[in-house]
Amino acid sequence: CGIVGYVGHRQALDVVLGGLRRLEYRGYDSAGVAVLDGAGALRVQRKAGRLANLETQLDADDRQAFAGTAGMGHTRWATHGPPVDRNSHPHRDASHAVAVVHNGIIENFAELRAELEADGVELASDTDTETAAHLIARAYADGEFAGDFEASVRAVCRRLEGAFTLVVTHAEVPDKIIAARRSSPLVVGVGEGEHFVASDVAAFIEHTREAVELGQDQVVVITREGYQVTDFAGEPAQGKPFTVDWDL
Ligand code: GLU
Repeated sequence: CGIVGYVGHRQALDVVLGGLRRLEYRGYDSAGVAVLDGAGALRVQRKAGRLANLETQLDADDRQAFAGTAGMGHTRWATHGPPVDRNSHPHRDASHAVAVVHNGIIENFAELRAELEADGVELASDTDTETAAHLIARAYADGEFAGDFEASVRAVCRRLEGAFTLVVTHAEVPDKIIAARRSSPLVVGVGEGEHFVASDVAAFIEHTREAVELGQDQVVVITREGYQVTDFAGEPAQGKPFTVDWDL
């Protein structure tokens, strides 16, 4: 429903929660965040209900535990599985290395889920989204794309049917956030020493008005220094740059 990702010099938790607040008008049933601490840990919290429920939980957890300058957040409008904590995004693989937030529907998720289960993977939620987290973690861990985060995400995108915006983080790759889209919106926010991805520019316009709209079946990698767009095959591609000129 609403998505924001950030890598830069500010505390990601603040940027991400601020972005989710600006997307609140869309309506949603659950919210969650993931923050990379830069030292190999990926912290996740998610809660059914309003953003305020998530914020209360983060206070109880101690927000210091979510220190880090790369992260992402999500507000969910449930399509696969009821709006409960365990179905809230981000979703992770079993080793908790990969986290994924997703807008839309992965139409072939039943087939992907069956394939994972046949391989002994235990799924922790009822969502279509969780399959993408396991598949990306497995592609990164082993096989043709082992150790290549971008190639792993692209390979999984090629297998997904339906409409999706995905944002993906990997604990071993803490300076990059990868996002992809098919038939669902995704924009990049270009700042100085910081970059954003979001489902809507409203999520980042308080920080930058320089934006890039991604085209169909494109993937973007954001770092502090820049961003790079390819198609799902890994060929260089271009988004459409624009400046947000409306008032806050
Ligand atoms: N299909 C996913 C789910 O049910 C994502 C829904 C959304 O777009 O928020 O969790």
